[in-house]
Amino acid sequence: MKAKRVGYYFSSLVLVLGLVTTKFCYADDLLQNYGWIHGSEKCKTNTDPAIEVLEYNPSIYILRENKCLSYEAPFIYVLIGEQSILLLDTGTTSDAAKIPLYNTIQKIIDQPKVAELPVIVAHTHGHLDHISGDEQFASDSRFHVITPNNEEFKNYFNLSNWPNETSTFNLGNRELTIIPTPGHHKESIAIYDKNTQWLLTGDTLYPGKIYIKDWQAYSNSIQRLANFTQQNPTSLLLGSHIEISKNGKIYKLGNHHQPNEASLVLTTKDLQNLNKQLKQTKGKPKKLELEKFTVAPISALQRLLSNILS
Ligand SMILES: [Zn+2]
Repeated sequence: MKAKRVGYYFSSLVLVLGLVTTKFCYADDLLQNYGWIHGSEKCKTNTDPAIEVLEYNPSIYILRENKCLSYEAPFIYVLIGEQSILLLDTGTTSDAAKIPLYNTIQKIIDQPKVAELPVIVAHTHGHLDHISGDEQFASDSRFHVITPNNEEFKNYFNLSNWPNETSTFNLGNRELTIIPTPGHHKESIAIYDKNTQWLLTGDTLYPGKIYIKDWQAYSNSIQRLANFTQQNPTSLLLGSHIEISKNGKIYKLGNHHQPNEASLVLTTKDLQNLNKQLKQTKGKPKKLELEKFTVAPISALQRLLSNILS
């Protein structure tokens, strides 16, 4: 009788684990193959939403701006904990009539147990396509916007030994690790979400053409991320843009239509490959073309633009 009962409990456990595993596998698989809205040849008559929202599960959302409205079409992440919510990046515009990020976030967090939680607004880095929506949140005290491009975020996330130390930040039963990743921008960070085992890499790593301002700092950051993913199970890497097709062609800068887009998802294997190639450059800037992305030192003109953007 006892054995039977244990057997029953065991098979129930297997069933539950099976369901949970299936759900997560399905979701990661879904994300890997997810076809994002990718702009249009006829943007003037385009009727796609200003922001596409993907609910991965009720506590994590991925948003993307419409490429017809902003060619950069950055991805924005919402992570919901039991005590607070993180909004990571705010996109390209303060114009809520054009891209209504504030209203979109309000709708997402209007759910039981979440509706009263404070929202921390932080950034992967301080370029304008990641911070310009901040103003949309300025008059609502529920949102705490961490000012980009100064020391505030380092203090907020307790990153005292920048860039050599990581720190942890808890949203309430949702532990995040903040990892400094200067290189593309001097104050870039990546965020690891222990619950999903996702690594959110901003513009430090994404499927596209990544330009690097400080090559040595970038090489060190990629080494730091590679070390981190060897010590912490990482299911996938998610950046802030897609700029490359499934067959490896980088789209023209400024385009509003990207048919046959590559997946947003990168893997730890992609990260390890990049780390290996960067090591071989021994700190000397050199364009590296990998299967899913290209890493290139910044040109003099881009450096000027980057300084203006930040
Ligand atoms: Zn960007």
